[in-house]
Amino acid sequence: MKSPLASRTVDSVRRASSSADAMIQLHGVVKRFSNAAGEFTVLKGVDLTIKRGDFVSIVGKSGSGKSTLLNMVTGIDHPSEGQVVVNGTDIYTGVTESQRSKWRGRNLGIVFQFFQLLPMLTLLENVMLPMDYVDMYDFDERPQRAMELLKLVGLEKFANKLPVLVSTGQQQLAAIARAMACDPPLLIADEPTGNLDTKSADTIIGLFQHFVEQGKTIVMVTHDPSLTSRTHRNIILSDGELIDETIARSLPQLRHRHMLEFTKLVEERFYQPHETIISRDESVDYFFMIRSGEVEVILQNKRRTEGKNGNVISRLNDGEFFGEMELLRGGKSIANVRAGSKPVEVLALPRADFVRVMNESPITAEAVAKTVQKRLEKHRVADYRQVQK
Ligand code: ADP
Ligand code: MG
Repeated sequence: MKSPLASRTVDSVRRASSSADAMIQLHGVVKRFSNAAGEFTVLKGVDLTIKRGDFVSIVGKSGSGKSTLLNMVTGIDHPSEGQVVVNGTDIYTGVTESQRSKWRGRNLGIVFQFFQLLPMLTLLENVMLPMDYVDMYDFDERPQRAMELLKLVGLEKFANKLPVLVSTGQQQLAAIARAMACDPPLLIADEPTGNLDTKSADTIIGLFQHFVEQGKTIVMVTHDPSLTSRTHRNIILSDGELIDETIARSLPQLRHRHMLEFTKLVEERFYQPHETIISRDESVDYFFMIRSGEVEVILQNKRRTEGKNGNVISRLNDGEFFGEMELLRGGKSIANVRAGSKPVEVLALPRADFVRVMNESPITAEAVAKTVQKRLEKHRVADYRQVQK
């Protein structure tokens, strides 16, 4: 992302101050694999911070690198370049494979799409396994603690059964109980409901919400929109790169390919409270998406005399956009747009790129047009007409 020096400074200050409440930090993570055809890059320099207590979903097309990204966080695989800090530990610098394995046992719960319970052990024994491995809790305490976890997931009646004797949904619940055996602060799940019916998936997401309420951090790869709608934050991976979340929120109908293109083209801009962003009668050269803060759209009616603030006809917030009316009509601004009472951060996309993608993506163009329509209806279309005369 292009950004002026000033915004980089703001960014690095923010990063430094946020590192204490970060659960996961990835800096410039690159992952390459080689096959017969040669070397190929699956993760292309991923920067990502996930806060403690967050509930995050990761989506993206098959092969976009989601599992590879999770493997970087769990230490199951290692990056070709870059740094990964999880729960305060730089997990690849000066750490041996066996140290990392013990660290993982104490810090992470991991859940996969295919539950990977040990078939020769009962559910209770499966749940006790991680406690034995990292030698956590007194030996005599372990069965009781495992039983409590099975109760939590509703499986106490099946504690002494082998995995094959319970349903797939129950096997996944047991796998989740096992993942939480050592009370880790972080749960990582790779398509945990991908192999389950809707009802089991629902139970699992409810359980995840319960863990999040208790202060756990959860990062989950999923294809299921009914799950992504229940997380705090949704991250999109496209061909090994992260899509800017403001763009994804502002234009959710956009193809991932276009979102990624926009991610690389936008400029970050910062405005002080009440600072002008677009002046009326000036030509508009950018499409703006709001990352944070509130923006006021102000109409200065020629006929009436008003206070110097004019008429605030619309207030827009993060995940909303503006400038599109002018760009689509190729005209000048019909209103003043300024920051509200707090600082505003926007992403500005050059006009030519916006227009080109609207032409390439009819679904998005239609969604943008609908938003414009709604806004016009809501904010007295008559006022606009008058001003345009
Ligand atoms: P996703 O989980 O998003 O479907 P993956 O992270 O599993 O994607 O894979 C991304 C790409 O990396 C795919 O092209 C896959 O074939 C390749 N890949 C993943 N793991 C390996 C590996 N161990 N060796 C070689 N290629 C791999
Ligand atoms: Mg995968």
